[in-house]
Amino acid sequence: SANEGLLRSDKGPKEEKTLSTFSYFVRAIRLTIPFFHIVVIACLCVAITQTCSLNLPHYQGRIIDSVIQEHHTDFWNTIKMYTLLSVLTGLFGGIQGLCVEIVARRLSNATRNELFQSVMRQDVAFFDGLMTGQITSRMTQDAQAMVQPCRTLMNNLFANLILLLGGLVMCCYTSWKLTVLAFTSIGPIIYLTGLYARWSRKVNRGIWQALAEANSVAVESVGNLRTVRAFGTDNVEISRYERATAEALKQGMKDAFVSAGTFAFTQYLDFATGVLILLYGGSVVLQSHGAELSLGSLITFQLYWNMMNGAYKALNGVINNLVRAAAAAQRVFQLLDCQPDIEGTRPAEVTGIVLNPDTMQCNLRFDNVVFTYQMRPEKPVLSGIDLDIPGGSVCAFVGRSGGGKSTLIHLLQRFYDPQQGAILVDGVPLTRLDLRTYRQQIGLVAQDTQLFANSIEENIAYGYNRPYTRAQLIDAAKKACAHDFIMGLDDGYETRAGERGVRLSGGQKQRIAIARVFLRKPRLLLLDEATSALDAESEAQVQEALDNLIKEMQGRCTVILVAHRLSTVINAHKIAVVNEGRIIEQGNHASLVELGGIYAKLVKRQMARDANQIQEK
Ligand code: ADP
Repeated sequence: SANEGLLRSDKGPKEEKTLSTFSYFVRAIRLTIPFFHIVVIACLCVAITQTCSLNLPHYQGRIIDSVIQEHHTDFWNTIKMYTLLSVLTGLFGGIQGLCVEIVARRLSNATRNELFQSVMRQDVAFFDGLMTGQITSRMTQDAQAMVQPCRTLMNNLFANLILLLGGLVMCCYTSWKLTVLAFTSIGPIIYLTGLYARWSRKVNRGIWQALAEANSVAVESVGNLRTVRAFGTDNVEISRYERATAEALKQGMKDAFVSAGTFAFTQYLDFATGVLILLYGGSVVLQSHGAELSLGSLITFQLYWNMMNGAYKALNGVINNLVRAAAAAQRVFQLLDCQPDIEGTRPAEVTGIVLNPDTMQCNLRFDNVVFTYQMRPEKPVLSGIDLDIPGGSVCAFVGRSGGGKSTLIHLLQRFYDPQQGAILVDGVPLTRLDLRTYRQQIGLVAQDTQLFANSIEENIAYGYNRPYTRAQLIDAAKKACAHDFIMGLDDGYETRAGERGVRLSGGQKQRIAIARVFLRKPRLLLLDEATSALDAESEAQVQEALDNLIKEMQGRCTVILVAHRLSTVINAHKIAVVNEGRIIEQGNHASLVELGGIYAKLVKRQMARDANQIQEK
């Protein structure tokens, strides 16, 4: 389906997933190519900063030695060098941070914009069965999270690798004997932590499974709550749930103890290494009176050792960070890669067809249209629709709900493409028209109108891309029976509608939608049950506006209406009765009543209902 790409990450073989996660990660890194010069500067700064900080312990040791030896010139020279290095470390560290942030923020901004563009491009089918939250979280959180590799790589990975390797070299340089000694004790630490990590992964998988089990118990019991209540089995369900969580707790406790033990043990080994270095190093200093190893060098060694230790631990965290960022990158790229089936704009050079709004007749033709929603592939919604609608006429779709009337309206807007057959506008298949221009010729009043959090004026002129005067705007609103209520609002046409503005009633919103159409003067007017969601009083006002609209548009515009009120339908040039995806009757009111089929029955029923209502009143 169209949004398969979004959901695909949940399925698929595991190997493939790991591989593709890595490739998404590489793609995320490749995004930095346009900022290559900044990245290079950042890398240079990292190199300079880390080289400087790698030299600091060396000078610290020398300062101590010169103090002990009371060597004044050496002392002052070293202090100067030390200060200079510290200043450089700070300076280049700052520039590095700045560069990394510039790249990261530009990257997340570009990604966010691109994601929004991609979402706006998607077919309507893409959004069927997707929650808005899924998409918006991808746009905000994931776009943020996926630039993390760039930050982590430069700030942590590169920097700590330099410290680790540089620290090792400097340790050996300072005292190779101490280095060998220290490594003999660090070996068990690395081995032990590796062992624990492997064991912990296994235990955590067990915990996760136990929790998933508990979750399925919860879903089942909550879902069947009425049954549980009816049978009085609350306790049974609770103990079932507790059994599942108890297993997770047991495993979790095991993990807690082993983790604490490992931590304490490695910590001891860590300290032991420190003691060993001081013990051995100190005795060498004492025995050789500083000839083989000076006190300063011993301190220098200790500092390098700590530096390496810190870098090693930081690198462990970096890997986790990168894995998380790669997952975010994967989700972002899947959305970016989603290609719509229906292309928004096709330049006339490609199709060879120029849509001229002024000469457009808007003769419509459904030619054996078969259509199935991707979300419900098992049942075709339209099965072989053949219908001619001459330009400038009024055509009404009637029929039982669920028959496919709104779907026909959707297809006319090319929200979806039929699987078979074609829809022709002035003899040209819809698939060959430049969609943006085509859609600009359409006026729509749907079942409920969504307004933007802009002024009423902007809402009326929404999508209208020609200049208009205030008088035209007011004229449109008046014809739509909207002017009076708009003037009654605090700021008139400047009043903000929607989220942070006034809440308009359903009927008021419909009249704004109608005003939109009056202003726009479309070539094709689609009215999809514009009054169906309203109460009787607002329905009357909207109906009046609609009657005005149909009257004004007749002749200059093709009108398609789906209506549940007979009075709107009666005057249509053509009435098509849509039933279970087929057009089973078509003709004008008189001919269909004479036919005595479904339409005639609908008319009779509605008349009876109206008569009843009148009697009740
Ligand atoms: P009508 O306008 O005549 O009431 P619709 O065109 O709205 O009928 O719907 C026709 C059928 O298509 C209904 O069974 C409806 O449930 C189904 N349907 C409508 N929209 C979708 C969609 N986006 N995805 C899947 N099925 C849909």
